[in-house]
Amino acid sequence: MDIEKIKREIEELKRQKNAIIVAHNYQIDEIQEIADFVGDSFYLSKVCAERTENVIVFCGVHFMAESAKILSPQKKVLLPEIDAGCPLADMITEEDVDSLKEKYPDYSIVCYINSPAAVKAKSDVICTSSNAVKIVRNFPNDKIIFLPDKNLGSFVKKQVPEKDIILWEGFCITHYKIKKEDVLKAKEAHPEALLLVHPECRPEVVELADFVGSTKQIIDFATSSKAKEFIIGTEMGILYSLKKRNPDKKFYILHPGMICPNMKKNTLESVRNALLYDRYEINIEENVVEGARKALLKMLELS
Ligand code: SF4
Repeated sequence: MDIEKIKREIEELKRQKNAIIVAHNYQIDEIQEIADFVGDSFYLSKVCAERTENVIVFCGVHFMAESAKILSPQKKVLLPEIDAGCPLADMITEEDVDSLKEKYPDYSIVCYINSPAAVKAKSDVICTSSNAVKIVRNFPNDKIIFLPDKNLGSFVKKQVPEKDIILWEGFCITHYKIKKEDVLKAKEAHPEALLLVHPECRPEVVELADFVGSTKQIIDFATSSKAKEFIIGTEMGILYSLKKRNPDKKFYILHPGMICPNMKKNTLESVRNALLYDRYEINIEENVVEGARKALLKMLELS
């Protein structure tokens, strides 16, 4: 594979099609390098909505491309690998939400952005990992069902003890892998390093952290910190931005298994093919777009 040739083809196709390429922080380095914007999923969806390009190549997983489509329904949103899904998002369905509503009619549904569009559409409000605490705290109902991630949910529960919060039993396969023993080992190996973790990690891992935050919050924290060494408890793709922005600092991944196989499905070749063949286009039913958009707008209002 001639990487430079593929990069040139991508640039040319981008111009021809009036397209933009956005990449999540967990994508492979080569994709982050060629992307117009790199960041977390909601930031990227907002960028896509603000830009004038008609075609969006979303290098991430399925629910992320869906979120971009919800905010830009008139644009063509492409996901380079159609089977790049998110196991966490797939742990909840719209039928599950219907059953919860029936069982707990007094409760409001706060839905993490890592979820299918149809689930978002049935929720009262969406949240991201950076604003989940704020959204739950500000939501005008003290009875909340938080879904689908139980770890982010229990992190929120600790910060907002005054509310009655029911958790759905979903989890991220990549973050859930990390156990307390892994943290203790990493701390022993790097005693000077600060531990920065994502709230999708288990509560006993989160408890040992010096900082808990979303990918953007972790990058910002490490960049503004005076510390020189960090143990990173999230998907290893984040190391690309961390090292780029902090060439003088040292970063150690908490565990070598912190790789999301779905995030790594997109390749330079599939990005080129997405542009060349207009694939794989994300389409969402109008009523789902409408419902999910309403829940996303509620998030903006509360945050
Ligand atoms: Fe889903 Fe976890 Fe992979 Fe993110 S890292 S896409 S939450 S499985």
